[in-house]
Amino acid sequence: MKRILKSRLPELWEAINSNFDLFLPMDKGTLVNFGAYEADKNIRLDVLKTNSSVKEFVFPQTETYLKFKHSKKKLELTPVAVEGREYVVFGVRNCDAASFKIMDNIFLRQPVDTYYKAHRDRGIIVTFACNNPEETCFCTAFGIDPSEASPASDVATWEKGDYLYLEAKSEKGERLLNSVAILLEDGDIAELEELKNSIKAKVANLPLKALDPKKITKAQQEIFDMEDFWGDISKKCLACGSCTFVCPTCHCYDVKDYDGGNSGERYRCWDSCMISDFTRMAHGNPRTSQLQRVRQRFMHKLVYYPKNHDGLYSCVGCGRCVEKCPVGLNIVRVIKRLGEE
Ligand code: SF4
Ligand code: SF4
Repeated sequence: MKRILKSRLPELWEAINSNFDLFLPMDKGTLVNFGAYEADKNIRLDVLKTNSSVKEFVFPQTETYLKFKHSKKKLELTPVAVEGREYVVFGVRNCDAASFKIMDNIFLRQPVDTYYKAHRDRGIIVTFACNNPEETCFCTAFGIDPSEASPASDVATWEKGDYLYLEAKSEKGERLLNSVAILLEDGDIAELEELKNSIKAKVANLPLKALDPKKITKAQQEIFDMEDFWGDISKKCLACGSCTFVCPTCHCYDVKDYDGGNSGERYRCWDSCMISDFTRMAHGNPRTSQLQRVRQRFMHKLVYYPKNHDGLYSCVGCGRCVEKCPVGLNIVRVIKRLGEE
């Protein structure tokens, strides 16, 4: 366990940035998002939920696979590889960090998604314990403890008093802390007990503390067939897709070609199961109503995914969908109602 005076954090970030590409939560005017480190920029480690989640680092919103050129009978294809220095994402909250496992189960199974893997391999995750969880947080419903190191942490950090405490949790994390060792002093894990207990006490008083997806006990087919329930839940949905784009675990994408005439690119981009032309195929669209689309989103997160992944839900309780949905339709309502009905 190491620690550094918070007043020396700019020195720490400069040192990290000299060896790695460093990203931190930054004030971008109307919202806070992870951005490339720049000295004297408005860094907002205090913000729990960045507008976009960390999935952008491993699953970018758009990503080019290959470039092509053609002339008469000749077609030239150039694959685009993921390149660059290792990067550090500093200040990742434990809910977002937990999303890596959920995404790994999709992208790292056979056949491995080589783009995703390259991003994962290059990334070093520095998590940051949540001293002040918010009313829309419910990560504990999914077994996440915001006061402890995350299983996905390469380095776990805690803010207490004048210090930031840092603990390496992986070989990557050891390497990162060794690279800045000159700035760090020894700390003691025991110094964090009071802080961890205070976080646990705050979590125990959050409004969504009793939320429990395990209360959903009906059989898959029975839940699927609850047409009245899904009709009621989905009738307000505007199909804007905001909930899926901000969600750290949503991973649907489309593959498209940009044809610029004699040259172009093949790229993938985020898609959303809430949008009417998602999954449209040559024979048509298997989900023709918003009821079916909304049902798919929540069935996937709460029923299909855990069924196929040893009970792991495809939600980390970050609460972004709770904050962003313009009509107040979100997974909390679905868990509560499915658990009760
Ligand atoms: S469904 Fe909502 S609360 Fe769950 S991970 Fe996605 S955005 Fe966060
Ligand atoms: S954010 Fe709300 S309105 Fe928009 S697609 Fe999601 S559930 Fe529907």
